[in-house]
Amino acid sequence: MTVFNFSAGPAVLPVPVLLKAQSELLNYQGSGQSVLELSHRSALFETILNETESLLRELLEVPDGYHVLFLQGGATLQFSMLPLNLATNQHLIDFIDTGSWSQKAIQDAQVYAKTRIIASSASNLYRSIPTDPVVSDADYLHITWNNTLEGTTYTHVPQVDVPLVADFSSSILSEPIDISQFDLIYAGAQKNLGSAGMTLVIIKDDLLERTPALLGSYLRYDTHATHHSLYNTPPTYSIYLTKLVLEWIKEQGFETVVRRNRQQAAALYTYLDQSTLFSNAVALTDRSRMNIPFTTGQTDLDEQFLKFAERNQLVNLKGHRSVGGMRASLYNAMPTSGVDALLDALHRFEQGER
Ligand code: PMP
Repeated sequence: MTVFNFSAGPAVLPVPVLLKAQSELLNYQGSGQSVLELSHRSALFETILNETESLLRELLEVPDGYHVLFLQGGATLQFSMLPLNLATNQHLIDFIDTGSWSQKAIQDAQVYAKTRIIASSASNLYRSIPTDPVVSDADYLHITWNNTLEGTTYTHVPQVDVPLVADFSSSILSEPIDISQFDLIYAGAQKNLGSAGMTLVIIKDDLLERTPALLGSYLRYDTHATHHSLYNTPPTYSIYLTKLVLEWIKEQGFETVVRRNRQQAAALYTYLDQSTLFSNAVALTDRSRMNIPFTTGQTDLDEQFLKFAERNQLVNLKGHRSVGGMRASLYNAMPTSGVDALLDALHRFEQGER
């Protein structure tokens, strides 16, 4: 059965990527070994790692002076690694609070350092991104670029004189990023980059100097930078899948992927804005192109729609339990036919079909 998977993550993967992974699963490039079986010290895996890094550098236009690291522990481990490595001068971190994932990052940071919220959209139920200029004199400022639950995204980079750290978990590679404006960005792989297991960290070289002497090896960014992400066993299969995803993006052209994302999100927002049943409450300027929450405003009707959607092969549309309603995640791998099928179901439901 074919379905369209609107999950927030782990999420839909491109069919050509899955087919390629399938074809290489048993015998990787004539080696007689599965990719899953390759030693991380083998020449074959080193090539996979190097190609993944160079594709990332190319597609994201990573400037010189940054290390690209492939780690484990999800974006969540970064909530601890960041303060442990970087909050080493004043032991003070500034945050812009844009929702649940900002708060998770703040909670973990509080274990290691003082935290300060210098802007927040809490009073607005996180339906927008704070836009007033911010001033920071902390060890760094942390922001959450795309807010997976609330469906908001930054469109401007806050300008501060301290290092800027950003969680790009749910929007990495969905649009170009000017990396030079950031000092560290990170993202779990299970949305736009591939499968769960690998976490991408792109870190400006001078931040590597900040790590204190007393910190365990895995937790140190400088360990992974020095050892080219091979200090210990990296998530080999997840890195390999990311390589396939990056090749898939490159083949079409990154601009094509970006354009498709914009068109698909615009089509859904246009529908929601004219609908008399469904709506999205996010400020027009701050709407995410990756995660689009919507609701009828009535819990039982939302439930009915979710069941109707499932009967129409549209799965994982349930909103996060803290937000309720529905959420369509339109990551890079969501085909336009999936968005068309969703629009068709929304329309038919609105017309009274059940
Ligand atoms: N930050 C954001 C913005 C996320 O969407 C998520 C996962 N949904 C996380 C952090 C946590 O990621 P992980 O599960 O990889 O630790």
